Amino acid sequence: MDAKSSYILSESFMITYNILYSMSSTPIISQLINLKCTACSKKYEIHRPINLCECGKVLFAVYNLEEAKETVTKESFCKRTRSIWRISEIMPVYEEKFRFTLGEGCTPLLHLKNMGENLGLKQLFVKDEGLNPTGTFKSRGLCAAVSKAVELGIKEFVIPTAGNAGAALAAYSARAKAKAHIFMPVNTPEIIKKEILATGGDLRLVDGIISDAAKEARKEAEKSEWFNMSTLKEPYRVEGKKTMGLELAETFNWELPDVIIYPTGGGTGIVGMWKAFTELEEIGLIGSERPRMISVQSSGCAPIVKAFEEKKDKASFWEGAETIAPGLKVPEAIGDYLILKAVRVSKGTAISVQDEEIMTAMYELAKKEGIMLSTEGAATIAAIPKLLNKGEIEKEDKIVVFGTGSGFTTISLW
Ligand SMILES: *Cc1c(COP(=O)(O)O)cnc(C)c1O
Ligand SMILES: [Zn+2]
Repeated sequence: MDAKSSYILSESFMITYNILYSMSSTPIISQLINLKCTACSKKYEIHRPINLCECGKVLFAVYNLEEAKETVTKESFCKRTRSIWRISEIMPVYEEKFRFTLGEGCTPLLHLKNMGENLGLKQLFVKDEGLNPTGTFKSRGLCAAVSKAVELGIKEFVIPTAGNAGAALAAYSARAKAKAHIFMPVNTPEIIKKEILATGGDLRLVDGIISDAAKEARKEAEKSEWFNMSTLKEPYRVEGKKTMGLELAETFNWELPDVIIYPTGGGTGIVGMWKAFTELEEIGLIGSERPRMISVQSSGCAPIVKAFEEKKDKASFWEGAETIAPGLKVPEAIGDYLILKAVRVSKGTAISVQDEEIMTAMYELAKKEGIMLSTEGAATIAAIPKLLNKGEIEKEDKIVVFGTGSGFTTISLW
């Protein structure tokens, strides 16, 4: 090839490249319009930081879905970023420079063929959230919440946590040049403490469990005006977790699975996915069918299961919570009414498993599939034989369990 034609070739390559590049880098516009209370429907504007509604209940972000429809199309996805910002039309951050990322989201959906054979299930899948940057799906929620808060001008956060949310807050705060104050039970796994210290979090160890940490955090927050990042006590962590639902829909080619089995603590994952499905239906990407949402808790802390069985629409405080699954040691959830609604409306159920069953499932999955889940994720696997027995799931069902964290986060238990 002579110099001239190679020049022309490289020039045409550059032109094509520039066009493609400018197409893919056109900022996607967030269609966030306001916040609305999930209990009393009161609306709030979005230009200043806010935690809960005046009535004390959870606020949800509302989007202009008619506008979002224009650009959120099945064809539009191939060139999009692989992070939680993939469908930024229905994410809360306006300016691209505030859409921080550490590569969270777009986790693999793995077919559990060996495990499924054993259980007689042909279509058993795990969404492996352990591959998120901080080893759990908490990356998603805190990525969204930190990004939005920083866009609103906040630079200092406080969080009560069973561990993983603290690690994620510390990491995303480092990324966004903000400060994270983390209140966490003293017996949280060492690896999580180290992760928080490594990423510059201000770690305060508290005697007791997450509800005790929450009291300390609240006191400090009132004194200092640090912004409270407790789950569902600010409106945007749930937006990050919503992306799990968006990804499931996309991965299954816009037909949702029959069943989702989810290890429930604060419930943000279930509530977030449920919101995602509502928005996707309004945009026109999915129909009205929903998976049965199944909430799994540890028998040592099962307030949602108890409320479900007692047909209540809110849960009461679980005294003396004790389980090897730190993320499930949550004795009360502010979004209890939202979790219970999603479970009931979807004709799902709530079920508890013993710690020993969790450990057995954790080892079995690792041996059979090479996948090391954290104790919380393994709880979903432990629930399967019980759900089959009770007729809550059937052999033909397409089932997705959520491996919410990497085995490394609870490695001290192996
Ligand atoms: C926080 C956490 C949970 C519970 O998640 P929610 O969405 O708050 O119910 C489950 N698994 C792991 C690993 C967690 O860190
Ligand atoms: Zn309200």
